[in-house]
Amino acid sequence: MTAYTPMIQQYLSIKEGAQDAILFFRLGDFYEMFFDDAIHASRELEITLTGREGGGDKKIPMCGVPYHSAENYIARLIEKGYKVAICEQVEDPAAAKGVVRREIIRVVTPGTVMETKSLADKANNFIVSAAEHDGAYAVAACDLTTGELYVTSFPAALESLTDEVNVYHPSEIVGDTAVLELLRPLAAGWNRPVIFTERTPMDPARLAQQFSQLALEALAPARHRAVSLLTGYLDETQKRSLGHVRRISAYEPNQYMILDPFTRRNLELVETVRDRNKKGSLLWLLDRTRTSMGARLLRRWIDKPLLSKAAIDERLEAVDKLYGNFILRDELRGELNEIYDLERLVGRVAYGSANGRDLNALKSSLRHVPALAELCAESDSATLRKLVDGVDRCADLAEMIETVIVDEPPVSLREGGLIRAGYDSYLDELREASVNGKKWLAELERREREATGIKSLKIGYNKVFGYYLEVSKANIGSLPEGRYERKQTLTNAERYVTPELKEKETLILEAEDKMVDLEYAKFLELRDHLTAHLHRLQKLAEVIASIDVFQSLATVSGEQRYVKPIVTDKYNFIVQEGRHPVVEAVMDAAFIANDTSLASGADQSSMLLITGPNMAGKSTYMRQVALISIMAQIGCFVPAKFAEVPLIDRIFTRIGAADDLIGGQSTFMVEMKDIQIMTEKATEQSLVIIDELGRGTSTGEGMAIAQAVIEFVHYEVGCKALVSTHFHELAHLGDALPRLANACMAVQETGDNVTFLRKLVPGAAGSSYGIYCAQLAGLPDSIIQRAYSLLELHTDQEDAAAAAAAAKLPYAAEAAAGYAAPSAEALSPGEAAWTTEELAAPAAPAATAE
Ligand code: ADP
Repeated sequence: MTAYTPMIQQYLSIKEGAQDAILFFRLGDFYEMFFDDAIHASRELEITLTGREGGGDKKIPMCGVPYHSAENYIARLIEKGYKVAICEQVEDPAAAKGVVRREIIRVVTPGTVMETKSLADKANNFIVSAAEHDGAYAVAACDLTTGELYVTSFPAALESLTDEVNVYHPSEIVGDTAVLELLRPLAAGWNRPVIFTERTPMDPARLAQQFSQLALEALAPARHRAVSLLTGYLDETQKRSLGHVRRISAYEPNQYMILDPFTRRNLELVETVRDRNKKGSLLWLLDRTRTSMGARLLRRWIDKPLLSKAAIDERLEAVDKLYGNFILRDELRGELNEIYDLERLVGRVAYGSANGRDLNALKSSLRHVPALAELCAESDSATLRKLVDGVDRCADLAEMIETVIVDEPPVSLREGGLIRAGYDSYLDELREASVNGKKWLAELERREREATGIKSLKIGYNKVFGYYLEVSKANIGSLPEGRYERKQTLTNAERYVTPELKEKETLILEAEDKMVDLEYAKFLELRDHLTAHLHRLQKLAEVIASIDVFQSLATVSGEQRYVKPIVTDKYNFIVQEGRHPVVEAVMDAAFIANDTSLASGADQSSMLLITGPNMAGKSTYMRQVALISIMAQIGCFVPAKFAEVPLIDRIFTRIGAADDLIGGQSTFMVEMKDIQIMTEKATEQSLVIIDELGRGTSTGEGMAIAQAVIEFVHYEVGCKALVSTHFHELAHLGDALPRLANACMAVQETGDNVTFLRKLVPGAAGSSYGIYCAQLAGLPDSIIQRAYSLLELHTDQEDAAAAAAAAKLPYAAEAAAGYAAPSAEALSPGEAAWTTEELAAPAAPAATAE
């Protein structure tokens, strides 16, 4: 190391503290990168890799980016999943002895970027921590741009952990080593790099500076640990106070509907499966928000459907009232249009990165709050009235900004021109002096022209020489002797100063320096004042975001002719003329509506076994049921003529998709694992949706597994379920299982033609039309004919086998005795029902007990 120059030695010792980041090392007007960092960064940023002598044997690889455009380069590295450590000169180079002192002032990471270039306005950027403590996992999530911080915990189970972390779709995860390892496979399925960083909890004293004693004490140990891991990381990377991250929002996972990662993706809640785009997702459809904070809140609502009937009804009430009042809706939208992203503005104020324009955006947003609040207060929606009742409109803060900041401030805080005249008398004096100085210069120029007779003589300014008098070469002869001191020679002109000019220059420049410093100080004063009131602004922002989401849901509901769902805490799920919201919205042709009735009780069925050919509309139908349930539970109207929906605690879907292959497992294995989790987690209140159950293995096995799973869901779980299968042979289960009904997608055959009617009708489909599809695809006639005759042969054999299997139903006794819903406790998974004794002796205990 000693061979290196002092600067490179300094570099290396700083790099020591930023091993996992690319170090941006400030050198004058550039950030330079050295060694491996330079090699990586030059490749990623497509900038030239050069070398620099640094005292070692070889040149040191180096590349650099200009200071003023660094933000772009940083954004690109962050997007690619790097961390960037910013190292600045922290003393005045003029005053430095030897190498200028430098320090890392901040580490920018994907989960902690504050710069708008790297951020999507309409999505949160969460960084998540995951911790384990005493048999519990905890997850904390923070969006540094808005200051939101959530935490929850649950008994340690891998699925619960992945479900929870997946909700936040974080760009960065920190935490306990072992827990991070569990999360890697989940992140591998996302469409962007995720950074994992191991952490240990932070110093408790430091933590106590960030949050109130009360808030910390209220946290269970696992949660405390998660918050500590996360805050410690934020503290270490940001190296500044985070005044906007003060409130910890703790929640229980069972406050919300549980949706596993696969289900979320498959139902295309916030992005499509195919291209991971928002367009085509439920979020895309429902998003008519006018503010970015509204858009983010809507996404959070979709991510976390509610499980409390009261809370859902409250939301539905607001949507209902706005649905019926499009004038109010328009007026609200008008005000919301004028409101900027308060949450992120507040974040920037706290973070110390807000400039004059940000404060004015804050001010002008606040100016629209009274009208917005009035509209809500006078509306006939109790929910809206409650929302704005007593809300702090922060008018004083708007006033204060108005008093201090000029109408059109510059971007920079260091060039003056920020503070309004009349706000500070000393500043006004300095300005006066500066203006007078400029007048004096103009006067000097006039006088010198007169004295010398040189019309083209002019006064100019540059950073190196200050103010000067410029005279063209042709006129030099006319200058008087002695008074003019030459400073600079150009091709066509000479530049001079005079003692008089020098003296005045000092005064003018001093005044300007002082002015800029004072303006900056006044600006910081205002920013600090606002920082002390952040919590008020944050509360207000939440209210505005909610109003925005309500109008968004009402707008879409109105336009798409949705209906207010009746949410119950009962069992039955009844929908008349339901539609798939997104398919309907993007389709040119008319969407065919279908009813759904999943109910308990005599002559009712809670399970539907749907058969029908490919392309008939089975999976669209099943997804539609799930989406209606989710929409209802976020408080939105639903695409139907009538809907009475129960609270669903968890939606479990197993719907085939191309990207099943996670971690090198076969599709079949993944399906079986998912089904295993379902058997363990589904309750009577859940909704199970399985598309093409049993595919991926041999027909015989597939059908056997499908039947066994259907029986299990029917008898052991008792939840509402939709199962589609291409094994139309399974339709016989409709006779054996009292709560299972057969249904199929109607198809019209006319001659050689098959028309999909997309209508769900009772009964089983006759054939799967697979061979018909093959025919349409143009396979040779001989193959088609042969396939038809083989099919006939198989069908005869299978009919016989199916009849035999039905007779051996493990639950045949209950079926014969007339079905009574088994209580959840009566049979635990894997218990008696499956033993050979029972198969041999149909008089099962459940039946004799009756
Ligand atoms: P399956 O699951 O039976 O193979 P899909 O549900 O994928 O069929 O539907 C195939 C296509 O049919 C969809 O892409 C959609 O465009 C159209 N479709 C499905 N259901 C309907 C409907 N109810 N009304 C109109 N078109 C529909």
